Amino acid sequence: MSYDVLVIGGGPAGLSAAVNVRARGRSVLVVSNSDTENPLYRAERVDNYPGLPGVTGPELLEALHRHAEAAGASFLEGRALSAMRMGETWYVSVGSDMVDALSVVLAAGVSRGKKFPGEAAFLGRGVSYCATCDGMLYRGRPVAVLGYSESARREGEFLREIGCAVTYFDRPKQCTITGGDRVESVTCDGVTVPAEGVFILRPTLAPTDLFPELTVENGHVIVDRRMATNLPGLFAAGDCTGGPLQAVKAAGEGLVAGQSAAAYAAEVLRAQK
Ligand SMILES: Cc1cc2nc3c(=O)[nH]c(=O)nc-3n(C[C@H](O)[C@H](O)[C@H](O)COP(=O)(O)OP(=O)(O)OC[C@H]3O[C@@H](n4cnc5c(N)ncnc54)[C@H](O)[C@@H]3O)c2cc1C
Repeated sequence: MSYDVLVIGGGPAGLSAAVNVRARGRSVLVVSNSDTENPLYRAERVDNYPGLPGVTGPELLEALHRHAEAAGASFLEGRALSAMRMGETWYVSVGSDMVDALSVVLAAGVSRGKKFPGEAAFLGRGVSYCATCDGMLYRGRPVAVLGYSESARREGEFLREIGCAVTYFDRPKQCTITGGDRVESVTCDGVTVPAEGVFILRPTLAPTDLFPELTVENGHVIVDRRMATNLPGLFAAGDCTGGPLQAVKAAGEGLVAGQSAAAYAAEVLRAQK
């Protein structure tokens, strides 16, 4: 699937970006977890979104979603897991799919939750963020799933179906991953189990997990006035760029990032002619 612009995150920033990419006549795909995994979904009442006093979080999200859909944006539900740029194109893996675009708007909100001891050290050596991508490597072996997202239980079931011996930890607070060359065991909230694979399934990844070369400060993506990051063709908007963590700030930045990403894609296409 190829698009002019890819938006990662379906909150106010991402949906506003998508509307504004469409307003510039460019194609756009929004990749996101389901609306129920958006923080705004938990807001009983939003009183500071201009023009819509007293709207509930779910109502606001639905209105933004409908607007982007009516503008002609495409949607793909799932988690973006990694991104890389080859030539003038960004390739982003979403579960076991791959999508590509000339420019990307990162609008993934804030990633809450710290990394566990051993998580970064064993990433790719037993630690994985995607059961459908890496599950087959662990057929017939003991694995642990650390589930924090709605889809985590389904991913745990998938691992069981393909023959992994699964221990499921439901939203554990403290975990430590240990091993030698590769993962050997995990301890969560005082319970230790042997595990050759540890699947950590959070709804949100840190910006630098997706884009390792991205410049961040205190976890926030550094952007300029056009919402451009340090990486070519990559723009960012919303909570991921820092406070105030509010929906209208996210939507405003989404507008700028959407316009900038559309202009960037148009420039690449012009140069290719
Ligand atoms: C309980 C509560 C009440 C709030 N009340 C208010 C209020 O009254 N007024 C106000 O202005 N703000 C309020 N907020 C804050 C507001 O929700 C955020 O500021 C706003 O949602 C940020 O928008 P965003 O688009 O930047 O990110 P988000 O809305 O967080 O959207 C990001 C989306 O991207 C998804 N995502 C993240 N990583 C990936 C990935 N790798 N692949 C696919 N999808 C991904 C996330 O699941 C999420 O759905 C509230 C927040 C909470 C939690």
